[in-house]
Amino acid sequence: MKKILLSILLLFSIATYSQFNPPWQGKKCAVVITYDDAINQHLDNAVPVLDSLGLKATFYLTAFSTSMQTRLNDWKKLAINGHELGNHTLFHPCIGGKGREWVKAEYDMSTYTVQRMIDETRMANLFLRTLDGKTKRTFAFTCGDMKIGDSSFINAMKDDFVAARAVRSQMHKINEVDLYNVDCYVVNGETGDQLIEWIKKAMETNSLLVVLFHGVNGGNALNVSLAAHSQFLHFLKDNEKDIMIAPMITVAEHIKDWQTRDKNARSIQQATQVDYRNMLAQLHIDSIRHGPSGNPSAPNAANTDESKASPYTALPDPLILKNGKKVTDAKTWWNKRRPEIVDDFDREIYGRVPNNTPKVNWEVVSVTNDTSQKVAAVTKKLLGHVDNSSYPSITVNIDLTLTTPANAKGPVPVIMEFGFVFPPGFRPDSYRAPNPPGGTTTEKSWQQQLLEKGWGYAILVPASYQADNGGGLTQGIIGLINKGQPRKPDDWGALRAWAWGASRAIDYFEADKAVNAKQIGIEGLSRYGKAAVVTMAYEPRLAIAFVGSSGAGGAKILRRIFGEQVENLASSGEYHWFAGNFIKYAGPLTPNDLPVDAHELIALCAPRPVFISSGSPKVEGHWVDAKGMFLGGVYAGSVYKLLGKKDLGTVEFPPIETALVQGEVAFRQHSGGHTTGPNWPTFIEYASKYLKTLQ
Ligand SMILES: [Zn+2]
Repeated sequence: MKKILLSILLLFSIATYSQFNPPWQGKKCAVVITYDDAINQHLDNAVPVLDSLGLKATFYLTAFSTSMQTRLNDWKKLAINGHELGNHTLFHPCIGGKGREWVKAEYDMSTYTVQRMIDETRMANLFLRTLDGKTKRTFAFTCGDMKIGDSSFINAMKDDFVAARAVRSQMHKINEVDLYNVDCYVVNGETGDQLIEWIKKAMETNSLLVVLFHGVNGGNALNVSLAAHSQFLHFLKDNEKDIMIAPMITVAEHIKDWQTRDKNARSIQQATQVDYRNMLAQLHIDSIRHGPSGNPSAPNAANTDESKASPYTALPDPLILKNGKKVTDAKTWWNKRRPEIVDDFDREIYGRVPNNTPKVNWEVVSVTNDTSQKVAAVTKKLLGHVDNSSYPSITVNIDLTLTTPANAKGPVPVIMEFGFVFPPGFRPDSYRAPNPPGGTTTEKSWQQQLLEKGWGYAILVPASYQADNGGGLTQGIIGLINKGQPRKPDDWGALRAWAWGASRAIDYFEADKAVNAKQIGIEGLSRYGKAAVVTMAYEPRLAIAFVGSSGAGGAKILRRIFGEQVENLASSGEYHWFAGNFIKYAGPLTPNDLPVDAHELIALCAPRPVFISSGSPKVEGHWVDAKGMFLGGVYAGSVYKLLGKKDLGTVEFPPIETALVQGEVAFRQHSGGHTTGPNWPTFIEYASKYLKTLQ
């Protein structure tokens, strides 16, 4: 399931963040078991059942309670056994008065000052620290009293506590939990079945349930029977695969992290909407056509029927000049036609790289002997510091690692990958950086395969210097050059910014003696597959490209009505990859109005070899449109042939796992999913025609 989610993440920017920020660590709900007031029955009746089931609870202790005074060591042991000792004040003050006649005058909170309440509470924290050594703590309001007069005292203690529990009988979803007013259900004579109903409700509503016990078979007027208590805990234990069961401190820290990530994601979404609307306004566009859905069962699902792929009538000919004349020699290609195509891509699709891009100073952060790939290797961690003297409030650094065989006789070829790196909590556990899973996996990692060949590899992290969202366009390298202002319609998008970073990495490789800088390859998957072919097209120093499932915006013919469409690329989730001008082709213009198409992007790579890779539609789905990418390669062939190279050799879409590797345009569909993984052996064999190792 996680693998499927990851594939969706890589394929679609439209996927909502919450899918990848599961509320309760992938479980249905969270339950926190709490016991208040430090009474002997907790030690004698509750703890043995908890420990026998391996469940951890939170005990809100009143420091000056009778049980604490007589059985201090027993309470101390709870912490050693993994239970949480929470703060329930020094003296258990409550607001007295009508119905609260039992409140002693000296501990009547209504006579307290806020400062006294704070001092006593901090004193209780200090006491608890002497028991368990911990500095992070949660609090439980005594009698649910949260204010002295009109003043809340917890506000002043948010640095002292991760969370504070109140007593209102409610349960909330993770985004609604107020960590300084955590609601809970107070147990007062319920049967086991009644307690279990609370858990079932939490599971149904994906909520946090906090249960508060006082007496356990005695010790307090608010009581639970041994049988009901045991039944409740056993039900929890029996369902622990669906329930996050942990002390308050653990659950509260989880909620805090989740809410922070959620807030960040929302602010990125908002910033993206602001930037997107700004670009639409610059283009005088009110709205664009909606793209189809990538979900095959949606009513507006993208077309996956080849007979309805609507053959376009006017695919631009890469060998016809704007003046209508045919290009018949290499010189005219290089001097006239190629610059025309570059200008069209610059202005209408990928945007122009500014003339004044800043210098990058490469720092070798560390050099280590690396045996992680079973071949002795040396790994350099590198950081490219981008000169930001033109606008110091934006700092940009490029993350790069370079690994070369330790026993190399001289400079080696290097394949550089655009690497996915996910923020903490965002990355599925099953994901093993940097090659995403999905479908078939090879036995050896691609890194090991390259090292065994005697080659090196590098991993460049595009998101380190240009964020993968529209909200980030006023940051990163694009934002730095624009001094934090929005782009103009022909300014570069993220794909060209990512490609710019790859060029800066090559600058570094040219200065590193371990690398043969004339034999650098580029590889990427999905959005980074698009980045790989864009980089190859614009960076002449690259020797070869391995373009993985690049789809629309990459190698796939944009005019083809199959899988992802221009309308999807032009939406607020993906427009940032491109120049603002590209949005026009989703309204009022159409893809047929594009002055260029993907085959001409591949033609810009000529005469150098390009390996176009795709997975199986059965595993990867149809969104990337394998045939559309194949056709991109087919129609680039005339330029390769003009330059004396070989094309794909066929216009027939080949069966799966057929390697078309005879020419400088190559194609192979592996039988796996959204990954380049299973195509690495074929690519390396293909690349060894072009990249040589000194022996
Ligand atoms: Zn209490």
